[in-house]
Amino acid sequence: MNYLDCHNHTAEWSDGRQSIEQILERAKEEKVRVGLSDHAGLGDYLNSNDRLLAYADFLSQYPVARGLEMDLGRGFTVSGEARKKFDYMIGSVHGMEVNGVRMGFSPLIKFIKGGLPDYNPGAQIKDWDLFFQAHLDLLNKEYAEQQYSILGHCTMLPALARSKNPEEAFPEWWEEKLVTTLLLYNVAMEISNRWITPYDRLMKKAVDAGLTFSVGSDGHEPLKTCVLDYPKEMIKKFGVKEDRIFDIPRKIEVA
Ligand SMILES: [Zn+2]
Ligand SMILES: [Zn+2]
Repeated sequence: MNYLDCHNHTAEWSDGRQSIEQILERAKEEKVRVGLSDHAGLGDYLNSNDRLLAYADFLSQYPVARGLEMDLGRGFTVSGEARKKFDYMIGSVHGMEVNGVRMGFSPLIKFIKGGLPDYNPGAQIKDWDLFFQAHLDLLNKEYAEQQYSILGHCTMLPALARSKNPEEAFPEWWEEKLVTTLLLYNVAMEISNRWITPYDRLMKKAVDAGLTFSVGSDGHEPLKTCVLDYPKEMIKKFGVKEDRIFDIPRKIEVA
C-alpha cells in the first residue's frame, strides 16, 4: 500500500532540520506520499491567520498533503478561512495545566530520548486519575472549538515515566474513554513511528472499536522522515483494514 505519512516538519516553518525538497526526496526513497504538518500554536511561528494562509500557499506549490500540527490547549484556534486551505489538522498535546500551572512536556521528551537521566512527573501530578480525566477533557474542549482530524502521538504523556511497560502506566478506563471520544468525533488515532505509540492493548481496543488510524513518522530530519516501520508493523499485527487508514480525497501527484 502507498501510505500517506501525515506528519513531517520543515526548518522553514517550524522545528524540522530539513527542507521540503529533502522531505520529498525521502518520500520518493521510501515510496510513500507525504503530508507536511508544521507546528501551529501560540508558541510557534505559525501563530497567526496570515502566517497560516502563507503556509497553505507555500504547500500548495508542492505535491504534498497540506496539514498542521496544532498545539492543543494553548488557546489558539485556526480560523475557518485558514482551516479550509488544509487537508487535515493533527491535534497534539505538548503540555497540560496541572493544579493551575502549565506543565510542558519537554523534560519528558528529553527523558524518553535519553537526554535526561531522571524525570519525576509525580512531583507535580499527585492524582493520576485526575490527570487522565483532564487530558480527555482537553481533547473534548478542543474538538468543540476546532475540529482536528487526527490525534497526534496520543500516549506522549508524562505517564510514560511511571513504568517501562505502558500497559502499567496507562489506565484501561482512560484507554476506553479515549477510543470512545475519537470514535464519536471521527478523529483518527496516529500510529507514530517517532513515539512508538499506541502500544498493543490500546491499539487492540481502537481496532476493535473500528477507529481510523493515520500513520506518521513525525520526521524532523531526513534520516527519520518517512520511516514508517512501527505503523506498518502495527497495521499488520492487528489486521487494520485499508479503509480504516486515514487518507485525503485529493490526489497528490508525485513527480
Ligand atoms: Zn508533536
Ligand atoms: Zn510533530
